Amino acid sequence: MAVTLSHKICLDPTYKQEQYFKQACGTARFTWNWALNEWQHQYESALKPTALKLKKQFNAIKKVDFPWTYEVTKYASQQPFMFLQTAFNRFFNGTSSYPKFKKKGHHDSFYIGNDQFNVKGNRLKIPKLGAIKMHETLRFCGELVSGTISRIADKWFVSLSVKLESAPTSCESQAGVGIDLGIKSLATLSDGEIFEAPKPLKKYLLKLKRFQRRLCRRQKESHNRYKLKQQIAKIVNIRQNSLHQLTSYLTTHFGGIAIEDLNVKGMLANHKLARAIADIGFYEFRRQLEYKSKLKGNYLLIAERWFPSSKQCSACGNKKAELKLSERVYRCDSCGLELDRDLNAAINLKNVLNTGSSSEINACGQDGSVAACCDNQLG
Ligand SMILES: [Zn+2]
Repeated sequence: MAVTLSHKICLDPTYKQEQYFKQACGTARFTWNWALNEWQHQYESALKPTALKLKKQFNAIKKVDFPWTYEVTKYASQQPFMFLQTAFNRFFNGTSSYPKFKKKGHHDSFYIGNDQFNVKGNRLKIPKLGAIKMHETLRFCGELVSGTISRIADKWFVSLSVKLESAPTSCESQAGVGIDLGIKSLATLSDGEIFEAPKPLKKYLLKLKRFQRRLCRRQKESHNRYKLKQQIAKIVNIRQNSLHQLTSYLTTHFGGIAIEDLNVKGMLANHKLARAIADIGFYEFRRQLEYKSKLKGNYLLIAERWFPSSKQCSACGNKKAELKLSERVYRCDSCGLELDRDLNAAINLKNVLNTGSSSEINACGQDGSVAACCDNQLG
């Protein structure tokens, strides 16, 4: 089974390269708008337009009417027709709204096919344009399918699509691990390791709030909007990177991984928790863990959300009736165990991994549904 994944990487183009990017974005935007406008005219004249017909028309006149389209990659003036067809297909089958015209500063991107670029280390190579520095190396190893270069505020990104053949088990060990996704720290592992949440997040969030407030007051000040976009891009990047580091570490070092299916909806009702959960990006964590486990062949177990990972003693199995969020240390009334709350929860999850759908889980009233759940995940 092959999968296509993409990795979005920040770029450091030179002045010349940036000028090229801007021009290619402009060409792609112009072509899209031309095609959409023409589509509408032809539709009104009952001509039944298709993207392919429009593309032929465009190519017949571009040498004379739009000679500047030749100054950038051919994809900038060809691919928008394919995208427009897709957009109309989605509109016709009811999955999207009617295609819109693109605006400068809002829709700055262009596509390139795999015959016009290459990736080596942290360099993106485009003929005639030379090597462009990337902030990270490509995360996946596989066949490059396409690239999309885009701009958010004044930052440039490339999103690289890579086709991967689902790899056989490439995990180093068969060891199992339980993970408690935390509020205090990003994650606590059952072996006692702790992953801290990225520090800069709080600082950026504060800044973001200030910008947002200012933006409401002065709607039209575009410089602030620009800065706001930049801040958001930074936060998303920091969060994504720390999660990728964590999920890559987990899937390379552990054959079996157990996490909890947090009741995110229930938790979002609580404001303070809501902020923390949103920051940490539980959904994103789970998404990454799922696809990386598929690729590397890890066994991923997602315990049902009412599995008592926090309330249960990881040593003797005794279950507390209540455990307040403020209680950071788990103290067992039955065997006297004293353990960090998150670590206790992580060990409980690891124990589920070892016992599978044994009677212990059934005793919690789960009827082996944990096992069924992870079969789906790995399907
Ligand atoms: Zn105990």
